[in-house]
Amino acid sequence: MILDQPIESLPSTSPVTMKKFKSLEISTLWDLVNYVPFRYENLSIVSSIRNIQEGEMLTVKGHVLTSKTDYTRRRGMTLQKVTIDDGTGTLDLLWFNQPYITRMLPENALVSVAGPIKMNHKLMMEPISYERITEINSPTVHTGRLVPVYTEKLGLSSRTIREKIHLIFHHMLGMHEQRNDLEKEWEWLPEHILHKHNLSDELNAYYHIHFPETKQDHTRAHERLAFDELFTIQLSNELVRREWKKEQVGNKFAMNKTVQNKIDAFIHGLPFELTGAQKKVIDDVLKDVRKDQPMNRFVQGDVGSGKTVVAAVAAYAAYLHKFQTIIMAPTEILATQHYQTIAKLFANTDVSVGLQTGAKKAAKGKNDTIEYDIIVGTHALISKHANYEKIGMVVIDEQHRFGVAQRALLKSKGINPHLLTMTATPIPRTIALTLHGELDLSVIDEMPKGRLPIKTYLTPPHKRQSAYEWIRDGIKKLGIQVFIICPLIEESEIETMKSIRAATQEYDRLKNHVFRDFKVGMLHGKMKPKDKELIMQEFKNKEYDILVATSVVEVGIDVPNATIIVIEGSQRYGMAQLHQLRGRVGRGDKQSYCILFTDEGDNANIHRLKFFASTNNGMTLAEYDLKQRGPGDIYGISQHGYDDLKFADLSNYELISKTKDAVNEMIGVYDPQKYPHMKERLEKFRLDQISRD
Ligand code: ADP
Ligand code: MG
Repeated sequence: MILDQPIESLPSTSPVTMKKFKSLEISTLWDLVNYVPFRYENLSIVSSIRNIQEGEMLTVKGHVLTSKTDYTRRRGMTLQKVTIDDGTGTLDLLWFNQPYITRMLPENALVSVAGPIKMNHKLMMEPISYERITEINSPTVHTGRLVPVYTEKLGLSSRTIREKIHLIFHHMLGMHEQRNDLEKEWEWLPEHILHKHNLSDELNAYYHIHFPETKQDHTRAHERLAFDELFTIQLSNELVRREWKKEQVGNKFAMNKTVQNKIDAFIHGLPFELTGAQKKVIDDVLKDVRKDQPMNRFVQGDVGSGKTVVAAVAAYAAYLHKFQTIIMAPTEILATQHYQTIAKLFANTDVSVGLQTGAKKAAKGKNDTIEYDIIVGTHALISKHANYEKIGMVVIDEQHRFGVAQRALLKSKGINPHLLTMTATPIPRTIALTLHGELDLSVIDEMPKGRLPIKTYLTPPHKRQSAYEWIRDGIKKLGIQVFIICPLIEESEIETMKSIRAATQEYDRLKNHVFRDFKVGMLHGKMKPKDKELIMQEFKNKEYDILVATSVVEVGIDVPNATIIVIEGSQRYGMAQLHQLRGRVGRGDKQSYCILFTDEGDNANIHRLKFFASTNNGMTLAEYDLKQRGPGDIYGISQHGYDDLKFADLSNYELISKTKDAVNEMIGVYDPQKYPHMKERLEKFRLDQISRD
């Protein structure tokens, strides 16, 4: 297959360009073909010079009469003037400071140029694109069509990318406007699916996504490629699901009457009454663990909805069968916190709970975490510190895709436990079922009773001082604690030195000026895990009134006495992130507040922030975001490991249902031997998924 060839097989391409492709992780022709345009310039109207009019955007073709560079009166400015003739008239083309133009478009050359027609004593053009052609009717790449425009990175111009992709389709694949037999060899979907869902073939779709003749071409191409994306995810998930359903759980839970009674007693002994939603989800879980097949349940529940206790009940069920549970969190802080919460829940029982993180080897008491009934730790733990024969339950917090890989890893060690995955970034049900179709879904859609909704205020800059005054008052009179979240400096999940410097400056300002008479602590991502943990613990113990933090405190930190969170530069955060940050407060029974500051003069996203301030419901925010933004941008989707959908729009439920139908038609007949292309696609997809985590 030609497209599997390395990028080096591109003819007439300079080493510099090759290197840039490599830096963009484009290493095969297929990768390049997958670098898709973000818009198209409509240069498709071709006109004779006689008919041009001021204000039009046109393509004109003709022979170059003269081509020269002039110096303008302004110093250092040069002017390139090329005059062309197409038999109906002559036209001056003007460029500024592009001396190579006269070399590219020398006298007598046949050229195609496109740009706006302007009036400057007479009609002329300031071209935005040009190319040499061999005949007047030769196919054009950069003019005379819908011209694809690509994101320019690392100095790689849109023009170069376009040229190289065109090279692949025209010269290497021999594609022109008409299809050829390559598609047959290439196509990975069976005829009956293509036919039933009225899809164009894939190779043509790729061709037209880059070089559509018409808008309809583009629409059809886009439809096909979006279909492919969702179909791949759904089919892969469904196959995984079916495989799992065939498996036998390694350590079976008998779940007899005695066990059930003990679980009931444990729930009864909790310091609070479970919400209806918690009861329902616990019910789902306990039904799952009765079966001979391993559980694969995915629990969605807003921040503070009380997911930990669900995990605790699952762990308790394992314990009652003398099996071990491991609970994995994405960060050490979270692991520590889960450990504390869970240890507290089991304080009056014989269940032993241990913590295992990089910072904290084998926790108090026993020599080795292997001995504990429940081990809480970061993801690194699973491969090292468990007693594999004894594992009956695995709980994974906030790392959804992890489940598939973990299951495979555990199986390779000869065990097949029940698996419970949890997330605090709820997404609409239809989307959850699409992205996580291999899992059974449960939703905690109800908050514990008696919790006051957090009040959110979008605070204009001129009220900043009075907001500080109000915070000082709260600390003094009510003894509350405060989070202050520094702005994201760069759009990156990883903290850069730059954002840490900025956060440190802000910390100094607050500590030495604004809140001089209070105890102020600081937490950022580059601190050693041990130090982070210490600071968190100190904050919990009220040794600080205020904790200044970068967005690392984003997920799951539980400090009930903290009732105010201030978010600086709030317009730079996505809805999901804001919601998770806000969820740091409102964890006790006191009224909590979220203060949103924005950068001075930046009024972008104000509507979004106002909407955010109007509701505490994560699902409502998710749906709002879904309507407002494009695919890939959607609320929390990146937390679900799917920020790289290029074509499919997850708010397009019609498409989701269409691809779901197709998966149902496919699943019965799928046979890797019979569909080698499909097998290849699925394997590549799974590999990508795992490497993402
Ligand atoms: P999350 O879903 O964000 O993980 P947690 O499990 O950490 O939420 O619970 C948040 C807080 O709410 C904890 O302090 C927990 O003890 C408490 N909690 C959980 N369930 C209930 C309930 N039904 N009633 C009252 N408080 C609860
Ligand atoms: Mg949690």
